[in-house]
Amino acid sequence: MVPAESEEEWREAFEGARGLNVPHACPFCGRKSLHQYFALHHSQPLVQAGRSFAGRGSFWSWCSQCRRYQHASVLVPEWWNSSLDVLDGELTAEPGALEEALSVGSRQISNEDENCS
Ligand SMILES: [Zn+2]
Repeated sequence: MVPAESEEEWREAFEGARGLNVPHACPFCGRKSLHQYFALHHSQPLVQAGRSFAGRGSFWSWCSQCRRYQHASVLVPEWWNSSLDVLDGELTAEPGALEEALSVGSRQISNEDENCS
């Protein structure tokens, strides 16, 4: 888990990220291995504070390297879409199933190579 005193730093690293692969460095280990995932539970489009959401769901943010993560109930942004192959029933508070799906999928994602500097 992400310690409470580091939550803000953690959140900032995910700010502006629009996809599964987050371009910023992890505040804990410094690697560019951050990922995020939204799971939509109830499709119910709404606008809140000028932003469009697809409905209520869950959010995971995690680092593939140091395995820190956060999980929360959120409104899922309208822009979110992901090709990650995860079944809702496999999802728990921990991002284990997501990480697994990611490691299968990343063989096809060539931009992962830039992490190996
Ligand atoms: Zn990390």
